Amino acid sequence: MKVKCKIIVKKKRGGSQKKSWVWNWFISDEKESICQVEIVTGQYCGKRYKNGSSTGNLISHLNNKHQITEAMKKDNYVVRKFSI
Ligand SMILES: [Zn+2]
Repeated sequence: MKVKCKIIVKKKRGGSQKKSWVWNWFISDEKESICQVEIVTGQYCGKRYKNGSSTGNLISHLNNKHQITEAMKKDNYVVRKFSI
């Protein structure tokens, strides 16, 4: 009897993806990334992008909608955990 042995090498996910500054402002779950910018107190933008969207989309959203750039310190904003 032959025993077949397979070695499965798990690749680390997201190895090619750089951790971008946009993730200071977005959270992502399995499906999508959600904008966490607090527009007014207690109210979050909540703009959603499907996973796989380029971070460029997220960046232009932050730029256009919130005037947030990479240079911006997150500390200047209050970002709380967004609950769905
Ligand atoms: Zn937003």
